[in-house]
Amino acid sequence: MSDRDHYRVLNVSRDASVQEIKQQYLNLSRQYHPDASGTNDSKEFIEIQEAWEILRNEDSRLALDKDLDNLESKNYKTRGEISEVVKISEMDFNEDGDVLSRPCRCGSTYDLSTSDAYDFNEVIVVCSGCSLKIKIENDL
Ligand SMILES: [Zn+2]
Repeated sequence: MSDRDHYRVLNVSRDASVQEIKQQYLNLSRQYHPDASGTNDSKEFIEIQEAWEILRNEDSRLALDKDLDNLESKNYKTRGEISEVVKISEMDFNEDGDVLSRPCRCGSTYDLSTSDAYDFNEVIVVCSGCSLKIKIENDL
């Protein structure tokens, strides 16, 4: 995850109280203060300031929580379960015969180019309209 996770920057949990966050902010900003660290690179120091600015404010902290929740559910979808296992011979060819497709329950289709279709034993295809996946087994 990037610097957008301000909890991680301050090394606090998401249910930490403002007091806990403040204490951690003070510790870290002392540690990473450009005067204390003896370097000109104050990237960490700036990140710590930014994180504190976000987390000390109830509104911006709520907005961050929402972002992080969205990110988590997006990651979950990418990892998502396979909804169906299909054999190539059960799929439909398009008119030109260069794409194999299968309808998804969302109304869109799983598409597999036939140029890719013969080099594998099985392949995972993601629906073009939603996050569902199917596993296609090569039975040709
Ligand atoms: Zn779909």
